[in-house]
Amino acid sequence: MSEKIGFIGLGIMGRGMAHNLLKAGHDVVVWNRTTSRMDEFVAAGAQAASSPADLARQCDVILVCVSDTPDVQQVVLGENGVLAGARPGQLVVDHSTISPHATLEIAAQLKAKGVHMLDAPISGGSEGAARGTLSIMVGGEADQVARALPILQAYGKTITHVGPQGAGQMVKLVNQILVVVTELAVCEGLLFAQAGGLDLQKTLEAVKGGAAGSWMLANRGPQMIARDWRPGFTIDLQQKDLRLVLEAADQLGVPLMATGMVFHLYRTLQAQGLGSEGNHALVKALEKMSGIRLGNNTQERGG
Ligand code: NAP
Repeated sequence: MSEKIGFIGLGIMGRGMAHNLLKAGHDVVVWNRTTSRMDEFVAAGAQAASSPADLARQCDVILVCVSDTPDVQQVVLGENGVLAGARPGQLVVDHSTISPHATLEIAAQLKAKGVHMLDAPISGGSEGAARGTLSIMVGGEADQVARALPILQAYGKTITHVGPQGAGQMVKLVNQILVVVTELAVCEGLLFAQAGGLDLQKTLEAVKGGAAGSWMLANRGPQMIARDWRPGFTIDLQQKDLRLVLEAADQLGVPLMATGMVFHLYRTLQAQGLGSEGNHALVKALEKMSGIRLGNNTQERGG
């Protein structure tokens, strides 16, 4: 018999993932803090829980995708949290990007009640969540990874068991170093093209299939050119990830010059009140310094 699944956190990512679970035929219970966000899932065949504890009482495997470390702590360990409704043998899979250190503490509290935990952060953007093509980096015990696999396959294409608990979050931080430094390169390349009077669409077409190609260039480059700042991933959440990266790098004694620079560029955008725009609005920080404006659109689409 397939396991009953609970999904907590129906935001930009969770929404696509939960829809893919329903499409794959899973029996799904949902909970979201803003309750109206559950309506479309109830209409699509899910049941709505009244709290994370209520959801845990009804499910075998509990998936979590909320914003930051304190938010995971709240929905799992807080009042009416998962732990309050949990029973031995259940599995919690955390898809949020949070502190690797806090992950181990949360896992220890669950383990004291006989509940397993995997850290399984995701990559691939809102597009990946909606299309079911996410990359998932999983930390935890092999038997629990095998148990989760048929569930994760509903929205994940590249699912890698990277090591013990906490390793998934560490690999995700590696992912974020690569994401933001690539993004900075996309911004610099496109501004250079603009200053050189090039056709930006043709420039993108010409370079995206070669050695310079990247997900960021192919997906966010066109959005930058169109000056469409609606978020697949907000600056505020991107900045949260960079804080986690820089904290871990500090503990490890690793210098991350380029990542640190992007962190401070995002800080300038947050100071201007742009934290809810997409992370590709990074280019606005460089526009301000260079006096070059990307694209021809006079109309901007906001965050
Ligand atoms: P989002 O659209 O802002 O959604 C956040 C979700 O978390 C919402 O459902 C929100 O509930 C819930 N939440 C936040 N704090 C909560 C709390 N204290 N208690 C209960 N629920 C809480 O964010 P997202 O983009 O889906 O990101 C979710 C996670 O995935 C983050 O850790 C992010 O870093 C990671 N991630 C995102 C992307 C991306 O491209 N977007 C890619 C990879 C990984 P409400 O509806 O009530 O606000």
